[in-house]
Amino acid sequence: MSGSGTRTPVAVLGATGLVGQRIVEMLHGHPWFEVAELVASERSAGQAYGSAVQWLAKGDTPAPAAKVTLKRPGDPLDSPYVFSAVSADVARELEPKYAAAGHRVVSNASAFREDPAVPLIVPEVNANTIALVAGQEWRTAGGGLVTNPNCGVVGLVLALCPIHRAFTIEHLTVVTLQALSGAGLPGLTDTNLTDNVVPHIPNEADKLQTEPRKILDGSFPVSVAVHRVPVVDGHTLAVFVKTKDRTTSGDIARALAEFRPDPGVAALPSAPSRPIVVVDENDRPQPRVDAERERGMSVTVGRVREDPVYSAGLTVVVHNLVRGAAGAAVLNAELWESCDGG
Ligand code: NAP
Repeated sequence: MSGSGTRTPVAVLGATGLVGQRIVEMLHGHPWFEVAELVASERSAGQAYGSAVQWLAKGDTPAPAAKVTLKRPGDPLDSPYVFSAVSADVARELEPKYAAAGHRVVSNASAFREDPAVPLIVPEVNANTIALVAGQEWRTAGGGLVTNPNCGVVGLVLALCPIHRAFTIEHLTVVTLQALSGAGLPGLTDTNLTDNVVPHIPNEADKLQTEPRKILDGSFPVSVAVHRVPVVDGHTLAVFVKTKDRTTSGDIARALAEFRPDPGVAALPSAPSRPIVVVDENDRPQPRVDAERERGMSVTVGRVREDPVYSAGLTVVVHNLVRGAAGAAVLNAELWESCDGG
């Protein structure tokens, strides 16, 4: 448990996938959590994690995890926390079962993000919504479910949060340029995405429209155009925002640069020292240069400028696998552990 000197065991569902292996990487040497159980599909179950995983995260597969024998989806687990990095279909079936069995399920999948009883958390923005867990039916067994947003949405809401708090967003337009790793392991080998741009990602636009409203507790409409581009890691979002209060791009740049999370959130082990970093150079942010900022946990905002139609235009880069997925889930688990579920 946090602060007790003994680390809390955790399980990872989808541990061999791009997000799952980033969770394993982030938890190696974590001060509060320790990887104890790993689960993948029936295809991989029974193998040692180190043999089954096509490790693409940094360095070698952490030695303690490499020795763990992969469990089958649905196998009983002993770990108090279960990180879920499986597809929405698989999550819809497995996550309620593990929550009902008394586990704290921390999900990357979209299956329950819009459920009013399930918090959709970016800790720097809406940490207080973790209190929703107390009202979940699974709490009688000691379990519960929290979710993190879609990978692009994490970057978007972090950038929108200071703007919405200071000036109230009326509406916005977002054009995304999304990395190949956002489509999981199959995305990295899809030859249709070499030297190409594809202006469609299934179900992605819906998430960019609905999830920011739940997280920011707003009613603003969002126009969206999504694109898959030949970049390995790091989503870029061109954002145009209209606020209800009169403001200038300079006011918006200042609100972004001055944003600081609550001290309790800032003190979590995986929290970046600055969740939003504003850059001034005309040709930034760029995924290759900026996505890894603060171990991939900060979003970078640049090109904050006047616009003839909107209050301002800006560009956001977010590491889709870290701040947009694995790191978002680890931060949510740290939040849950720190406040004991509300
Ligand atoms: P991925 O690379 O395709 O990995 C999928 C994982 O699920 C693998 O471990 C796979 O195991 C396992 N799996 C496949 N079928 C299964 C089944 N029937 N039962 C149990 N496990 C099964 O996908 P990913 O990119 O890591 O994404 C995982 C989740 O995170 C998805 O819900 C995705 O939408 C979400 N997400 C992804 C990103 C991103 O940037 N990639 C960002 C935010 C959220 P095997 O190796 O055995 O096949």
